[in-house]
Parts: sequence; structure tokens; C-alpha cells
Amino acid sequence: MLDGLKSSLGDAIKKIVKSSGIDEELIKELSKDVQRALLQSDVNVRLVLEITKHLEERALNETPPPGLSRKDHIVKILYDELSNLLGNESEFDFKPGKQNKIILLGIQGSGKTTVASKLAKFLTRQGYKVGVIGADTYRPGALVQLKTMCEKSNVEVFGEENNKDSPSIVKNGLKHFEDQPLDVILIDTAGRHKEEQDLLEEMDRINKVTDPDLALLVIDGTIGQQCFNQAEAFHKTIPVGGVIITKLDSSAKGGGALAASAATGAQIMYIGTGERIDDLEKFSPTRFVGRLLGMGDIQAVLDLAKRLENEGDDVRMKRISSGKMNMDDFFYQLEEVTKVGSLQGLLESMPGLSGMVKDDQVNQMEDRVSKWRYIIQSMTKEEKADPDLLNSSRIKRIARGSGWPEGEVKELIKNYKNSKNMMKASKGRQMQGTLRRMGL
Ligand code: GDP
Repeated sequence: MLDGLKSSLGDAIKKIVKSSGIDEELIKELSKDVQRALLQSDVNVRLVLEITKHLEERALNETPPPGLSRKDHIVKILYDELSNLLGNESEFDFKPGKQNKIILLGIQGSGKTTVASKLAKFLTRQGYKVGVIGADTYRPGALVQLKTMCEKSNVEVFGEENNKDSPSIVKNGLKHFEDQPLDVILIDTAGRHKEEQDLLEEMDRINKVTDPDLALLVIDGTIGQQCFNQAEAFHKTIPVGGVIITKLDSSAKGGGALAASAATGAQIMYIGTGERIDDLEKFSPTRFVGRLLGMGDIQAVLDLAKRLENEGDDVRMKRISSGKMNMDDFFYQLEEVTKVGSLQGLLESMPGLSGMVKDDQVNQMEDRVSKWRYIIQSMTKEEKADPDLLNSSRIKRIARGSGWPEGEVKELIKNYKNSKNMMKASKGRQMQGTLRRMGL
């Protein structure tokens, strides 16, 4: 993925890592190398200058934090600035108990129809009930393509073969799905008209009929800079809430598309990395930049990430022991316990405890941990951070997504709450807390 950019950024970093000392000249050279690398992969000039200006300023003026070498620090700054360009990680904020309507926008060939079926499958796996409306009337075969791809995920596609008016198909589709217990309706729209203005007018009409909860702009990662104007034009008609970049598997010039989200102020949410239905990845700017900078080559960034992670652990432990644990912390603790190997092994290694716990109790607990892992993985980031959000419709969705009954989800929530309360009461007497939390 983005091989050209990766290798030129990698070369720039190698220069820093191998240098005998850092001086202004070397920083300027790094800045030039990064400029060249980004421009070659079609990132917009203004953004490139902004990034490299920050890079230079910070590299020249900031003192590295204690324990971090100057070289590590500069690599870290580059990592930060590239991650900033790509924004924060962003998730759908579905409102529970209603049909969340998502419009997919984008020009023909951008991969909209493919994305509709990929997303339908992705969200179904997360436990959402999904319906799809195929309103691309311009491209022959779009509806059949959509139906064929969605069939395997058991997602219903509504379409009207002989109706050429997209907004009315959307209207009829919404009516058709009205009484179904869906969480999400994905709407695939047309990407071409004789005149661009006609396309935008149609989008405007669809927007009015749908009153969408989210409009996602699908951008072809191979088209480079042009996508800026495209993104802007769509954004003026329907405010774009998220971006999906496709074809990053085949793209040499994905930089332009990656930066296009800046034109809308919206975050990249997913990337398409192939033609198959499973080739959709949730986009994480930091992971992406990590890959781009070639983790293998930059041990410094790895070390740094590790250090930051450890700092994160301290913060987490403080949160847990002060009784402010969230679902993520609870999951982390479950993972820590199971990571040791078998729970039995852990218990046997604790003086005074071996023999006190029966085998079948341990087996039961291990089963439970693996069930809960699936359940917690089916929660959204917001739910994990604030489990008080878990009302009955969210519990239903999570149960569907994880494949476990609602009773089990409720059991997990009960245990989480008990555990949190106990932690508050025991104020960090960790081992006792862990065992009690595990129901032992
Ligand atoms: P639409 O006109 O926007 O609906 O575009 P389609 O969904 O029909 O996609 C256009 C072409 O791009 C098809 O041949 C897809 O198989 C292909 N395509 C879509 N997404 C990807 C991707 O992530 N990687 C690759 N390599 N091809 C893709």
C-alpha cells in the first residue's frame, strides 16, 4: 500500500537515524525529503507545507522529554504530524432504537456500490441489523451487483429496476423498510449524470427525502489531487460526515485521497484494500502512519509507542484502583488474567491458593472470559468508555453481534458493575479485587 511514499519516508528516517548528530541543516534536509515524498504521492501542496513547517519548527525548538533521544524525538514529531494530517480515529455514532440512515456519495467508479456491500457485511458482523437501498439508476447493473454482494450476508437490498428517479426510489425504500427492526439503512446513490450540476441537484433531492444521519463520501484512492474538488462539491450539497478511501491496495498516489478529508473537515473512517467483500478496514491514523513509516525500520518509534503504552497502563491502573474503571479497563483485566495461560496455572502459582479452587470452577470462568471477550468486542468505543449508555436496545444489538443471548450481556454488565464497586471499596487491593471480580 502506498509503496512509493513508504520507501521515500523510510529513506528520510534512515538518514536521521544514521546521522552522527542532529543540526539545523539535517532538520532542513529531512523537511525537504518529507516534502518531496508527500508531493510525489500527490498530497496537496498547502498541506505539505503546513506539515513540514510544523516539523521544522518543532524539531528545532522542542526539547526532547527526559529519556527520549533527539533522534527518537524527531521521528516521533514526524509520526505526530503525519497522524495529525489524517485526523483522529472516528466511529459511527449510531442512535439506538431508530433506523440510522447513511447516504453513500461519490462519483461513478469510486467504489460506492462495493463499499455499500462491504459496510453492510461489516456492520452486520458488529450486530447491527442492516438494510440497503440501491438508488444508482444511472449505471446499468449496479442493483444486481449490490444484490449479489449483499445476498451472502443476508442483507436485504431494496431497488426498483424500472424506476429512473433516484429520490423516489429512496423514498419508496425507506417506506419499505419502515416497519422492519433495522439499526442502519445504507443508501447507494448514482455517481454520474450528463452534467455535474444534475448530479448535485439529485443529491440535494435525495438529501431532502432522506434526512440522513450521516453522509459518507467514497473516494477512489488512485485519482490523486482531483478528489479535493470532488470532495468540496459534494460537501457543499450534503455535509459529509465521514470519508471512505477505496483501492488503497492498488494505489501509487493515495496521498491526495488521504488528504481529501481535509477538504470536508470529515474523518476517514474506513479504507478499501481490495475487491473482495472483506477488504474493508477500519481506519486508524496512528496505525496507518506506523505502517507508512515502516515499523520494521524505525525501532525508535516502536520504543516510543511502548513507552507511551506503559504510561497508558499507569493511567489505567490509577483509574481502575480509584473505582473509575470503564468497560475497556474491565476487558484489559480479563485479558491480563487469561494471557498468563490458563487461569488454573495462575491460581496454582499463587501461594496459599492452589487447591482451593476446583477445576470445573476454573473451566467455567475461562468459558465466561471468552464469551465476554466477544460481547465486549461488539460494543462501540462510546459504550466501552461509558457502560451506563447500555440500555436495552443497545444490549439487544450487542447480543446479536456477539452471538450470545441478552442474558449473558446483562450478566457481564452486572459483573462489571460489581467489580467497579468492589474496586471502589477495596481501593486497589489488586489481587483480591481481581479474584473477586472473576467471581471466585
Ligand atoms: P461505483 O460506480 O462507485 O459504485 O463503483 P463500484 O463499486 O462498482 O467499483 C468500481 C470498481 O472498483 C469495481 O471493479 C470494483 O471491484 C473496484 N473496487 C472497489 N473497491 C476496491 C478496492 O478497495 N480495491 C480494488 N482493487 N478495487 C476496488
